[in-house]
Amino acid sequence: MSLSDTIAAIATAISPQQGGVGIVRLSGDRAVAIAQQLFHAGGKQVWESHRILYGYVKHPVSKTIVDESLLLLMKAPRSFTREDVVEFHCHGGIMAVQQVLNLCLEQGARLAEAGEFSLRAFLNGRIDLTQAESINDLVGAKSAQAAQSAIASLRGKLAQSLKYLRGKCLNVLTEIEARIDFEDDLPPLDVEWVKAEVKTVSQESQQILATADRGELLRTGLKVAIVGRPNVGKSSLLNAWSRSDRAIVTDLPGTTRDVVDSQLVVGGIPIQVLDTAGIRETEDVVEKIGVERSRQAAQSADLVLMVIDASVGWSEKDLEIYETVRDRPVILVMNKIDLVPCSSEQESLTPSPSPHGRGEQDYIFTPPLLRERGLGGEGIPIVKTAASQQQGIEDLEAAILRCIHQDAISAANIDVAINQRQKACLLRVVQSLANVQIAIADQLPLDFWTIDLRDAISAIGEITGEEVTESVLDQIFSRFCIGK
Ligand code: GDP
Ligand code: ZN
Repeated sequence: MSLSDTIAAIATAISPQQGGVGIVRLSGDRAVAIAQQLFHAGGKQVWESHRILYGYVKHPVSKTIVDESLLLLMKAPRSFTREDVVEFHCHGGIMAVQQVLNLCLEQGARLAEAGEFSLRAFLNGRIDLTQAESINDLVGAKSAQAAQSAIASLRGKLAQSLKYLRGKCLNVLTEIEARIDFEDDLPPLDVEWVKAEVKTVSQESQQILATADRGELLRTGLKVAIVGRPNVGKSSLLNAWSRSDRAIVTDLPGTTRDVVDSQLVVGGIPIQVLDTAGIRETEDVVEKIGVERSRQAAQSADLVLMVIDASVGWSEKDLEIYETVRDRPVILVMNKIDLVPCSSEQESLTPSPSPHGRGEQDYIFTPPLLRERGLGGEGIPIVKTAASQQQGIEDLEAAILRCIHQDAISAANIDVAINQRQKACLLRVVQSLANVQIAIADQLPLDFWTIDLRDAISAIGEITGEEVTESVLDQIFSRFCIGK
């Protein structure tokens, strides 16, 4: 891969016969020359930077018209890659963009590798590494909050904090090294100041680290499995949930799969619901495969919604299913609560308000059948619903958010959230700084302080890209798609 090549790629998602516009993007020294071979702008339009030209893309030899399109010209360094960039805004679908791309390749452009536009933007100093990664996050965002977090990062919020912390470390390092090199000429090292600075950086690093879990949730979302006996109301529950318009995003077509996926958003967190009951159910078949299916779905889920029929109460079959999922985080959904007369509900459930004193529905409860067998001693959160009446969905969502300790998320204040790579680097920062603190406390020679301090500095630099190896870059950018 040569960075001096002029690269080309289709920059928009393409699918046959769909989409109004498709974009082919060129970047590099020859971008403008290649575009001029192919694009014919009528009238007095001039090829100036940051202008849009209107015209036709024609085959350079046969002069056949390939597409009618707009051409956007961005000369270096005022472009995403800081190279000359040309974009052809073609008609949507596949044919136009593919033909225009092919013509660009015939004219000497090379097909861009995954993430190569962003890589160039990084290498040319247009963006730092956290910003580059957030581009990928923004494109892949499954909820508005995930997108918000990516944008905060894209605008450099994470990079700013990290550069500030790295700067502090560098300051301290300079002071210490000066004492190593010119001990006699300088006032003694202010050890208290060093301690304070190291402590500050460590604390702030830990604060940023604390956003990792949220980052993971926002990025990948939460997989929730709905399990339970046939007819307890699993499908009804999913329907009611999907229909509550606070939640619904899309229905993924589940045509050939036996598990129907729905994509919802709860409290800003993308949630993928695996409805194990999405299959057409014939009682006996389901009886046989139900348990096995519940087990499978539960294994791949982050959270299990175990539905039982409140009008029936716990049965042996429920218990069997519960056994298969109890090693996962479980919320017990007592559905068909509308069929339970108030007084008997009280008796059969004997709910006790949770010690947290949260909402009325927040019961922690151990079913009697489980208690008898010494199971579920820890208690499971319970939510009461009447799915066919669309009741209890809000409580269900609240219970889910509590389960993942994310109540705070919906309360706005969404900021950057780090990813796993950044987390690994920050853990190194915190560890190295802890070592520095030990070295200071043990009054080890100054050389020992600087070794770990340097480690911390380079770990921060690896996040922002100020100190980064080629293989790390490869790893990051190969996850991008082509055209980004
Ligand atoms: P699944 O087999 O677990 O998916 O159950 P379904 O969602 O197909 O529901 C089975 C039957 O129970 C259907 O006739 C539903 O209308 C009914 N049902 C579901 N939820 C409720 C509820 O909350 N209250 C009442 N009364 N009936 C319900
Ligand atoms: Zn069903």
